[in-house]
Amino acid sequence: MKQIVVLGAGIGGMSVAYELRAALGKEKAAINVIGEGTKFSFTPSNPWVAVGWRKPADIQVDAPTHLAKKAIGFEAVGAERVVPESNQIVLRDGRTLDYDYLVITTGPRLAFDEVPGLGPSAHTQSICTTEHAQTAWVAYEQFLKDPGPIVIGAAPGVSCFGPAYEFAMILDADLRKRKLRDRVPMTYVTSEPYVGHMGLGGVGDSKGLLESELRQRHIKWVTNAKITEVTANEVKAQELDDRGQLIKEHALPFKYAMVMPPFTGVDAVRQAKEMCNPRGFVLIDAHQRNPKYPNVYSAGVCVAIPPVEQTPVPTGAPKTGFMIESMVTAIVANIKADSEGRAVEAKATWNAICLADMGDTGAAFVAIPQIPPRNVTWAKVGRWVHLAKVAFEKYFLAKMRSGNTEPIYEKYVLKALGIERLK
Ligand SMILES: Cc1cc2nc3c(=O)[nH]c(=O)nc-3n(C[C@H](O)[C@H](O)[C@H](O)COP(=O)(O)OP(=O)(O)OC[C@H]3O[C@@H](n4cnc5c(N)ncnc54)[C@H](O)[C@@H]3O)c2cc1C
Repeated sequence: MKQIVVLGAGIGGMSVAYELRAALGKEKAAINVIGEGTKFSFTPSNPWVAVGWRKPADIQVDAPTHLAKKAIGFEAVGAERVVPESNQIVLRDGRTLDYDYLVITTGPRLAFDEVPGLGPSAHTQSICTTEHAQTAWVAYEQFLKDPGPIVIGAAPGVSCFGPAYEFAMILDADLRKRKLRDRVPMTYVTSEPYVGHMGLGGVGDSKGLLESELRQRHIKWVTNAKITEVTANEVKAQELDDRGQLIKEHALPFKYAMVMPPFTGVDAVRQAKEMCNPRGFVLIDAHQRNPKYPNVYSAGVCVAIPPVEQTPVPTGAPKTGFMIESMVTAIVANIKADSEGRAVEAKATWNAICLADMGDTGAAFVAIPQIPPRNVTWAKVGRWVHLAKVAFEKYFLAKMRSGNTEPIYEKYVLKALGIERLK
């Protein structure tokens, strides 16, 4: 019987555990998932938690209870470190787990330490984890009693821009509903070279489309901005030109700020330096395997992928749900093949679909493949995107409870968007 360990119980980890169990029966593999606590959190709904539209419990699932129904074990104490040379994981309580195959799906470490004053333990809010989003909601409730300027931003090196746009637009929608929008000047400040770049070099007319949405909502923007410091009431940023030369220093006042941090690999993984790139992301080959340790696979935000293009202020390429789904499917096919003595052949399709909620409407972007030039670039705005995102949340949480292994993007989302025929 093969011992398979999945490290990280997020979108990638829960999906890979269920798919592995469906592909490898109980007699063929023992599967154990390691999480930090017992809760699976649906990260894409965090922006709604931060404005009180969802409670944390609405978007969380008790992982061990549901995984147990599929005979998948769970360790909630978290991993202290991976020891790939001896096929072991050291848990935070000192116990060790042996594995034949390891799948690393830890998501990112949030590198607030790279900009002074950044993050919930300093001066800015975060929506990157559900816990942070809940803290952001408490701060927002305080802010509503005495509103003032809001700054939403993306720091240098950020790869995940979608949530920053979403949160700016969701706050705008929420403040309009409360009839407080007129008291809140808003600014979006970003490392992207232009609005709508999103770490993807733009998708279709995402530049025009998102500029128009920001303009209609009276949200000013500063692009090519290197946020250098955040104080108790100002975001300091250097605006650069296309050649990376300073053109303006900004000190943007705020009473409420949310700035996306850059990511690195998590500590438990990045200390295994030979397995990772310099920022601690797991190196993978075309089959999602680590080149040095081929029994180690990885999927999701923790994998190393290069930026789509060089930008004056560094930006990274996002790793979103569709891409993660296809990485998971490839890993399961490859572990099954390898454990049966067959060659490992499956590859992920690195495509991007982003459904960005804007509170009462939304924007959908499709990039196939993610890296240009592309076969499909498609971007549209409409209320249906907001509704699709609500439906997607419901469907995904049900999937995490039931262990259903249907690929959502491949089977439903592309068809619903009418993209299937363009692929
Ligand atoms: C706010 C936000 C909104 C997003 N919205 C969308 C969206 O709408 N659509 C989309 O396609 N993508 C979206 N993304 C991008 C991406 O899909 C999500 O970040 C997704 O959650 C990534 O899945 P993952 O499995 O790689 O990591 P995660 O879901 O972050 O899961 C990683 C898990 O590993 C755990 N972990 C870390 N270290 C350890 C350790 N040492 N031991 C044990 N466990 C550990 C973490 O606690 C976490 O539970 C969004 C990202 C953010 C931050």
